[in-house]
Amino acid sequence: MTIKDIYKHFVKCNGTISTDTRNIEKNSIFFALKGTHFNGNKFAKSALEKGASFSIIDEKEYAINEQYILVKNVLETLQQLSTYHRKKLNIPIIALTGSNGKTTTKELINAVLSTTYKTSATIGNLNNHIGVPLTLLQMSKETEIGIVEMGANHLNEIEFLSNIALPDYGLITNFGKAHLEGFGSIEGVIKGKSELYNYLKTHNKTIFINKNDITQIKQADNYKSIVEFGADSQNKIQIELENSQSYVSVKYDNKIIKSNLIGAYNFNNISVAIAIGKYFNVSTKNITSAIENYTPTNNRSQIINKGSNTIVLDAYNANPTSMIAALENFKNLEATNKSLFLGDMFELGKKAKQEHQDIVNFIESNFSESVYLIGEHFYNTKTDKTFINRFKTFEELKLHIKKAPINDKSILIKGSRVMALERILDLI
Ligand code: ATP
Ligand code: MG
Repeated sequence: MTIKDIYKHFVKCNGTISTDTRNIEKNSIFFALKGTHFNGNKFAKSALEKGASFSIIDEKEYAINEQYILVKNVLETLQQLSTYHRKKLNIPIIALTGSNGKTTTKELINAVLSTTYKTSATIGNLNNHIGVPLTLLQMSKETEIGIVEMGANHLNEIEFLSNIALPDYGLITNFGKAHLEGFGSIEGVIKGKSELYNYLKTHNKTIFINKNDITQIKQADNYKSIVEFGADSQNKIQIELENSQSYVSVKYDNKIIKSNLIGAYNFNNISVAIAIGKYFNVSTKNITSAIENYTPTNNRSQIINKGSNTIVLDAYNANPTSMIAALENFKNLEATNKSLFLGDMFELGKKAKQEHQDIVNFIESNFSESVYLIGEHFYNTKTDKTFINRFKTFEELKLHIKKAPINDKSILIKGSRVMALERILDLI
């Protein structure tokens, strides 16, 4: 069956896709994807029993009747179908990638643009070779602008995702030390993320450049179709950082916009959203209200008051760049009795040992009390400072806090997702 034929089925199902038999939507097409631990083909029957209209499969023995559509490769079919659909939509699509801040920036852009347009954006963090196709397939005839987050942990991935989503506009949030295991080095990260620029240049599309980031300027290399923004007066779109002492506020169009985001790094994320809003003619009033009303979720830089403690909860994820950014920001916060709870950073490969030691060295020079480091990597770092407490496991930290409760502190919690440091909230 050709993609064109499968598309007809997709239209018949009102563009509804299911990939998980635990939540099958009625009259949807089930894509029997394979993972390392499961074979979707085995669930094709159950998907139909639960209400799906068709199951796309790639193993012949599971095909029972005409509701089963046999293809060579289910994943490739999903990807091709999404590109086919994207071409039919004929709407501007904005793609974004970067080492940190993709989801936050995506949500801010969506908040701004949705004041004025019918938008459709990546749900949550669905930013990979499956998430990007699903994001595109969820866009409909009513959609006026699409916003697609693209993640990568190795070279050629962004190029691959760009060729699926065919973006008209693109931006890179930043180049940082994330996924070093797959990219090899920061040079690898720059090369990998810049694949988005290369795609846009090759296809004469538009790049949004943050003029405050020298690497971006260098990588975009004077490309002609660039929308520049930042604090530099040379830029058409001027955005200045007003305050990052607690919540970040910015100055744009002679107005102060007060966000609910903490961390000076969010200045960049907010700036992108303003620049894109301005480019698409969203009024300053709407840009302002969208940014002022946006509150982060999912443990990303949230402020929480619990008992006598005030917590900056940034337990969603961590890598060397975002860790240093968070520590710098926390250091500059106007607060007393500061305490750090930091968890291991993952996916660093051979650089893991050095990167964790660098964080400890940074802490030694910038903090002087109440530091708790959790995980094997941090446990194996070297320090002679007695205020730095290291725990191999979360359980060990738990026992320690039971004996020595934490009170009256301003606390930063940050670590990789696997560390799930939001669990600390139950301890303090
Ligand atoms: P993922 O790779 O999981 O998709 P992401 O790039 O989507 O991550 P976010 O989820 O937006 O990033 O933010 C994760 C964390 O990264 C934040 O909680 C914050 O600590 C940090 N962060 C956000 N924006 C920036 C930035 N511009 N520079 C450095 N660190 C940032
Ligand atoms: Mg994300």
